[in-house]
Amino acid sequence: MSERTTVPITTLLADVRACRHCAEHLPHEPRPVLQLHPSARILIAAQAPGRKVHESGVPFDDASGDRLRDWLGVTRAQFHDPTCFAILPMGFCYPGQARSGDRPPRPECAPRWRAPLLQALTQLQLTLVIGRYALAHHLPDESDGLTAAVRQGQRHQPALMPLPHPSPTNNRWLARNRWFEQDLVPRLRARVADILRHS
Ligand code: SF4
Repeated sequence: MSERTTVPITTLLADVRACRHCAEHLPHEPRPVLQLHPSARILIAAQAPGRKVHESGVPFDDASGDRLRDWLGVTRAQFHDPTCFAILPMGFCYPGQARSGDRPPRPECAPRWRAPLLQALTQLQLTLVIGRYALAHHLPDESDGLTAAVRQGQRHQPALMPLPHPSPTNNRWLARNRWFEQDLVPRLRARVADILRHS
């Protein structure tokens, strides 16, 4: 996809929104859900849209989003301002339901789209790496699992910070790891507020 690096961002986004690359594997018509502007300061590298987000077409328009916005200490308006937050899940289309929870992000999506989209984000100061699929892509050398990665906090420059998925299906993890909301979330809020203040 290197030929896409010179494509204007509006054309690239139009190409993504028209994508049917893995349509045969989806249980519905493709509906890529993402948010991107080259001025974005914070990237949310997430998993894949759920059913409610698939229906609305608005990223994190669900209970996961409510919890994530609370962790970040931002309003809906701030969260959906693409000059503040870019939102790129590992799979842009809802992958459908599994026996328990949703299916994983389609594996075709990141190799096809991620590199040129990330290349457009030249102002990033923080990447929030949410869940194990984004962790495997953005921090491939992390071998001790998601909990250890989250506990370690921010690393690298520009900064990457692994987070657990904010889904209600993750309530048990949050109950077992109370240090996350007690210690790490206040630091995350302070970091986000600092970045947005200077945007
Ligand atoms: S999941 Fe990604 S690759 Fe598959 S149709 Fe949607 S945008 Fe295209």
